[in-house]
Amino acid sequence: MAEFLDGLKKGFSDKVMEVNTKASTYMEVNRLKAYIGTLEKEMGELRDVIGGRLYEAWKQSDGNVEISLVAGELSRMQELENMIREQNQRIQEVEAQGRQITGAPQVRYCSNCGTACAPESAFCKNCGTKLG
Ligand SMILES: [Zn+2]
Repeated sequence: MAEFLDGLKKGFSDKVMEVNTKASTYMEVNRLKAYIGTLEKEMGELRDVIGGRLYEAWKQSDGNVEISLVAGELSRMQELENMIREQNQRIQEVEAQGRQITGAPQVRYCSNCGTACAPESAFCKNCGTKLG
């Protein structure tokens, strides 16, 4: 009887642990995605600024526009791009960590080319086939 209860308790805590891990992974991933969203928004605004400024300068010149007009904006764009890449990397790490804790499979293989992809990917990173 005691064994049965212990087994039950263990099964229960494993389940709770799995649910907690999935919930905290989900929340952390959502937080990172929201942050990426703000970075992408800033990139979009910078694109508008760069495009607008170059276009105005081009209209008022004989077609020769100094790229230095937008040098600061271009640097910031690159910085943002790197930050977005880092955040996406972080999302993959968090998801892999969550899978490790819950014992979920770490990879899913493409049915077309056999490439190992992250289980949450919708499409193969190599050939673009939809992952089932
Ligand atoms: Zn593939």
